Amino acid sequence: MERVRDKVVIITGASGGIGRETALAVAREGGHVALFDIDETNLKPLEEEIKNLGVQCKSYKVDVSNFEQVSNAVEQVINDFGKVDALTNIAGITRDNFLTKMPIEDWDRVIAVNLTGTFYCTKAVAPHMMERGSGCIVNISSVVGVYGNIGQTNYAASKAGVIGLTKTWAKEFAKKGMRVNAVAPGFIKTPMTDKVPEKVLDQMIGKTPMGRMGEPKEVANAILFLISDEASFITGHILHVDGGLVL
Ligand code: NAP
Repeated sequence: MERVRDKVVIITGASGGIGRETALAVAREGGHVALFDIDETNLKPLEEEIKNLGVQCKSYKVDVSNFEQVSNAVEQVINDFGKVDALTNIAGITRDNFLTKMPIEDWDRVIAVNLTGTFYCTKAVAPHMMERGSGCIVNISSVVGVYGNIGQTNYAASKAGVIGLTKTWAKEFAKKGMRVNAVAPGFIKTPMTDKVPEKVLDQMIGKTPMGRMGEPKEVANAILFLISDEASFITGHILHVDGGLVL
């Protein structure tokens, strides 16, 4: 079964743990993939791996916090693939610290990538989707955006903001045939959590009813579902993929 057959999907943060698995999940289900990431090093091998699955794939070096780069890349994708059916706003960073110790530039950078980047990519893609009368956006929030976390003032604010964007856009675009949802992962094994001290991860696992961290594939599967037509009447939803952490 090809659940997203011939859909063209933009994936930001495609080199990362969740982005890479999402790109592969979409390609395995027959979708074509435009890979966006700030770092090109890992994009080319992924592009080749995906092309070997028999779908179209192209990579683009894009900093999502730079609107000019984003809008040029989106225009290029429309030229290269002919359309965009779905945008997944996965690029994200952490710069953790207690509020009193957080440098202003770490606040600014996390908001610029996680929140403004989501706004920029959607702003660049939405007119094309509106013109076509269809489209799907999946944003990535976090459990931290729902219930906060010590040492993550900037990250929690950005991820709570993503929930606000998701619900607003779901309302704004519904009549244009577009759906907008978000996934809120718990603690997932990726390069992002590799940086978290083991003691903190053990505490989080202890608080997670399912008693383990999630796999990037488990988040990718939720994103794939929201992109697919199986989710055709779902919009404005925040889908928790967290092993029960926020129950
Ligand atoms: P990751 O492995 O670090 O992947 C993030 C990717 O985004 C990296 O390839 C990174 O490139 C890229 N990126 C960073 N800044 C960018 C920019 N300005 N423009 C374009 N790309 C940029 O992290 P992940 O765990 O897969 O996270 C993916 C998303 O899930 C993020 O939004 C994250 O906040 C969210 N999330 C993750 C978890 C978790 O437990 N892992 C939990 C909740 C939510 P570089 O490596 O070169 O910086």
